[in-house]
Amino acid sequence: MAVVMDHGEKKAQDAQQAFMQQLRKTFASLPREIPLLLFSQRGKEDVFVDACRQVVRAFRGLTDKITLKEYNLEHELAAKYKVDSSPTLLIDPNRYNIRWLGAPMGEEGRSFLEAMLLIGSGKSGMGEQSLKVIERLDSPRQVKIFVSPTCPYCPQQVVNGLKAAIERPELVSLEIIDIQCRPDLADQYGAQSVPQAYANDVLIGQGAQQEEVFLSSLIKLAPQTIFIPESTEQVVNTDVVVVGGGPAGLTAGIYTVRSGLRTAVIERDALGGQVALTPIVENYPGFSQVGGKTLVDIMVSHALQYVQIFQGEEVLEVRPGDPIEVTTTRRKFITRTLLLATGASHRHLGVPGEQQFSGRGVSYCATCDGPLFKGRKVIMVGGGNSAVTEALYLKHMGVDVTLVHRRDRLRAQDVLANQLPASGVPIMYDTEVKVIEGKERVQRVRLINTKTGKTSDMAVDGVFIAVGYQPAVGLAQKIGIELNEDGYIKHDAFHRTNIPGIYSAGDVEGGYKQIVTATGQGAAAAMTIFEDLINPYWKVAQAS
Ligand code: NAP
Repeated sequence: MAVVMDHGEKKAQDAQQAFMQQLRKTFASLPREIPLLLFSQRGKEDVFVDACRQVVRAFRGLTDKITLKEYNLEHELAAKYKVDSSPTLLIDPNRYNIRWLGAPMGEEGRSFLEAMLLIGSGKSGMGEQSLKVIERLDSPRQVKIFVSPTCPYCPQQVVNGLKAAIERPELVSLEIIDIQCRPDLADQYGAQSVPQAYANDVLIGQGAQQEEVFLSSLIKLAPQTIFIPESTEQVVNTDVVVVGGGPAGLTAGIYTVRSGLRTAVIERDALGGQVALTPIVENYPGFSQVGGKTLVDIMVSHALQYVQIFQGEEVLEVRPGDPIEVTTTRRKFITRTLLLATGASHRHLGVPGEQQFSGRGVSYCATCDGPLFKGRKVIMVGGGNSAVTEALYLKHMGVDVTLVHRRDRLRAQDVLANQLPASGVPIMYDTEVKVIEGKERVQRVRLINTKTGKTSDMAVDGVFIAVGYQPAVGLAQKIGIELNEDGYIKHDAFHRTNIPGIYSAGDVEGGYKQIVTATGQGAAAAMTIFEDLINPYWKVAQAS
């Protein structure tokens, strides 16, 4: 029977043929062979093995550059390549450590095509910024990407993994795992949604990530949400250097660049300062409730639209003068002004056992470590807004938490404090921690009632500490900046310090230490800097 095609079908068929023709040409131009090794279990009917064969056969119809050899799991090559499940498809195993656990069906056909083209080209096809990121990788990464044939977002994440494995084959291995074929592995890793990426068994990405973000996550072994471009400049000439990438520093950066000033923000650690560690923020206007890290991501994305951020470099030295010289661990900045927005770091209790068990039951960050204590008993030490916010956060995630406060009244705002009894968080007033004890990890705390002097032991798995912050003034002191009697940077109403051209903003100045006050101080300092650069007060002072 003759098949009659309508016009639309004919057009679609022509387009498909043209596409196949183009693919044949592309494969023909590739410089390398693409050897594939398929391992399967002898004598076992397996739909995934059949599907694998079919996909490879279809691709081999396009090019003879793809070769396929099949082995069973008892073959010596299975032992050589540490293959123990069926089907496992190895891609060019003499050059790379890339394997598919399952069959590249459905949406995964796109990933497979990309894999064939990249392997055939012998190049990772990474962008310039990505190459700079992966260049920094200095230890092995075993990447696992969980996918499913019906997931349209998976190929993007698989391609990220492929590029990393091709660019750094000596350090990066890649397993692409089809959750339908390997539900056991999906269960083991808790991969409930796809794509989900792990490196060295640590979750580094949920959902498809931008290439540079995936690579940053791979390097840091933690999921990143924002990519900050790397700079190779050895000397940066600028009008303003902001030290500190918290709310004050980021806001200042936005304001100075919008005033036409060249600006660099330098941050040694993670961007966002203390806010990034705050579980929930409820008093930043415009957001009735927002996660601290989410708010930071929004701020950083906004700041990046204006200002260059140099993250991961520490300021080692500042030479005041005109210009000011700032030396970091990576480069030198020549700048007309300097803004110190170095924030504050958490205060320690200073009791025996605190340092010894830090990271082994003692924690200063509920958002970071809280999930590890689900269903376990902990105390939260402190009576301020941080202690209460974090105790509530722990309680809500299923941690058995008791607040321990040294006085008979909390310092925290009533609106927060009132939530403790409502949420079932017990409070031990007039109580101080004397000693933290344990073997490998924290096991108990010795407490003292400050009114009765009575001591008692309490069995706990964790001690969370939120007893305030101390200003990060080490750099300021090194430069010769005056501090006030409380140890914060001394400044005038315009955020000028005692050294001309050097300013301060945010928690390092003391005061209310709210996100909204920090951003306000950053904006105000930036506006002073703008005005001072037009009309330098120190020159006016010298002239008169
Ligand atoms: P904080 O307000 O200074 O409170 C520190 C708490 O720790 C106080 O209750 C203090 O007790 C206690 N403490 C200090 N040293 C101690 C020690 N050695 N042993 C036992 N307890 C000790 O610090 P924070 O709660 O970290 O807050 C810092 C700033 O950030 C504040 O300005 C706060 O308002 C702000 N913040 C705001 C929010 C929010 O608005 N949602 C959230 C977090 C933080 P005493 O009360 O006896 O002095």
